[in-house]
Amino acid sequence: MPKKSPPGLEKRHIHCSICALLGDREYATQTYGWEDEATFLPPVSNNLELVYDLAPGSSRASQLRKCPECNTFYLYTSDYEYLVNGTEDEETLARLTDDEAAEYMERDNGLGHT
Ligand SMILES: [Zn+2]
Repeated sequence: MPKKSPPGLEKRHIHCSICALLGDREYATQTYGWEDEATFLPPVSNNLELVYDLAPGSSRASQLRKCPECNTFYLYTSDYEYLVNGTEDEETLARLTDDEAAEYMERDNGLGHT
């Protein structure tokens, strides 16, 4: 059985010059001392616009971002771990549906933002 998804919602990124270069989930990690193994998010991810900072002031980022071309939402998160001789940084960028993006915004509205 083919999976059902709302028409025109999930697939619009396929025809977008920015989103077409991004996977549903991108992952990058940079570890101190292992620079040769470092991976980075696709450069085109810099074209996404910050819509909502879900963790303002936090060193671990959690941000709702949006493609300026097709309005697809993404969740950008970063994390790091302290190691004995340095740090390990992680970044993820995950494509969201409009419903998921709305949920993140609603959830955050209940946490004291005005
Ligand atoms: Zn796009």
